[in-house]
Amino acid sequence: MRDAPKKQWRGRRPKRKNCAFCVDKVKQIDFKDSLRLRRFVTDRGKILPRRISGNCAKHQRLLAESIKRARFMALMPYTVNQEQNFVRF
Ligand SMILES: [Zn+2]
Repeated sequence: MRDAPKKQWRGRRPKRKNCAFCVDKVKQIDFKDSLRLRRFVTDRGKILPRRISGNCAKHQRLLAESIKRARFMALMPYTVNQEQNFVRF
């Protein structure tokens, strides 16, 4: 029997995180603020998805924009080499 009901509650309701930028009432995200942006990328330099960062759609969009801008300005890495990572931080 392969069609067992898949709707099993695993007991980990994702808590509704509120957006870190909405809390601070941030209207624009400064791409020069790489320390703040750094909290929203993985250790490999990837932008965190919204379901993890908990940002709202508006701020996630702004955030992604500023991270990309910061990358272009060489304030943030496009990718992080794991070995280099150890040296840098
Ligand atoms: Zn927000």
